[in-house]
Amino acid sequence: MPEDSVPGCFAFAFLRLRRRRPAAPVALSTSHPHSHTDTGCCDFSLLASHEHARVEKDDAALPEYSCGGYAFDEAATKTVEETIEALDGELRELSLKIHDHPELAFQEKYAHDALTSFMESHAFTVTRHYLGYDTAWLATLQVGSGGRILGFNSEMDALPGIGHACGHNLIAIGGVAAAIGVATALKKHNLSGTVSLIGTPAEEGGGGKILLLNKGAYKDFAACLMIHPVPGPAHSTGLGSSLAVQRIEAEFAGHTAHASAAPWEGRNALDAAFVSYTALSALRQQVKPTHRIHGIVSGRDWAANIIPDYAKLSYGIRAPTHNEVGALEPRVKACFEAGAHATNTKLTYTASLAMYDLFQNGALSSEYRRTWEGRFGRPIATGPAGSLGGSTDFGNISYAVPGLHPAYAIPTVENGGNHTRSFADAAATPEAHTATLYAAKGIALTGLRVLLDKEFADKVMEDFKAGKPQ
Ligand SMILES: [Zn+2]
Ligand SMILES: [Zn+2]
Repeated sequence: MPEDSVPGCFAFAFLRLRRRRPAAPVALSTSHPHSHTDTGCCDFSLLASHEHARVEKDDAALPEYSCGGYAFDEAATKTVEETIEALDGELRELSLKIHDHPELAFQEKYAHDALTSFMESHAFTVTRHYLGYDTAWLATLQVGSGGRILGFNSEMDALPGIGHACGHNLIAIGGVAAAIGVATALKKHNLSGTVSLIGTPAEEGGGGKILLLNKGAYKDFAACLMIHPVPGPAHSTGLGSSLAVQRIEAEFAGHTAHASAAPWEGRNALDAAFVSYTALSALRQQVKPTHRIHGIVSGRDWAANIIPDYAKLSYGIRAPTHNEVGALEPRVKACFEAGAHATNTKLTYTASLAMYDLFQNGALSSEYRRTWEGRFGRPIATGPAGSLGGSTDFGNISYAVPGLHPAYAIPTVENGGNHTRSFADAAATPEAHTATLYAAKGIALTGLRVLLDKEFADKVMEDFKAGKPQ
């Protein structure tokens, strides 16, 4: 399916970016009908028609790239772009190899080995099994002396039963492309700086980045950037936030009994789960539209003629901010307690690492946006001000160091967004690969500026210290 016929809406994080100051000026040609328009999900067909004509223009016709008053290096920029373009075939092969070997959280051994070998073959110093995690890794390259440290992330994990249905094979090569692109530019133009690419396991529920963060993996980064594929208007990118999430498991312990001969002797854990499930369904009506409470029931040794003595509810509690999740959590727990009270079962909780909402750095966002629109001639997608999307452990990273996590559109079928079998198919298409290279160039050039332009790097840090705009 051609990219321009992509249907669908923003499933992940194409949300309105509230910037505290306007973006640095962009020199735009008059043939930029999309500029500064907020294109909502429903405007897709309109956007696609004029985008189609525009993206086929040759390079000479693209708008001039303005530095908006900053000194910025056009020669190094060109090197980044040409390096990533020259890697096209190798990156495609690497992406498909990872796609064809889907591995679950913390089991990304094939991806770990393939990616570390690749980075080593491109002159990076590689640390395998980074910080004690079997499938984490670090690839780093320092040029010159001193200078800032620029971080990128490559995710690797797939989903149970449906493979690379979140496109982490694309994220993996996006990080690789950006890191090699920037490092090559530093070397070629005798510029100082360090590029550090972290292979981050277990994004899907495992919080791999949070574990690495707690062990100091992101210490001293001037910024850290990564990309994520989503459905959306053709050729677009988004700079919205994501939802904070707290995952929680509620386990009920009861007592078995013969379901007919002596049911009064039993304490029914499955009933506890269903009372809780029903209470949570009622609670959903009394929470904000931007909040999410979702989960499943599981158990063991269940049979119709035995009163079940064990059941587990696995739930995710999500909201636009970490604080809102904190406010929602006791209301969710009250529902679990209702189930335990009603059935006289014992309730225990296990909470996973909390993922924060994304704090997209203002200066990094502006620079990425300027590159995407002004240099690539591609649209920025924005959605409703409310937050409707997934979550990422990169949220925590974005509160620890200045971060940027753009979402970018790949072609998908209807109802074929992230975490569907169709999205796994989409993540293997040549069109998705091409879109990934654009997004990789976008974060590479944004990151390059952090290394080369002190004034810009200071502004990035200033925005970070000011905190997320509310
Ligand atoms: Zn996912
Ligand atoms: Zn994902």
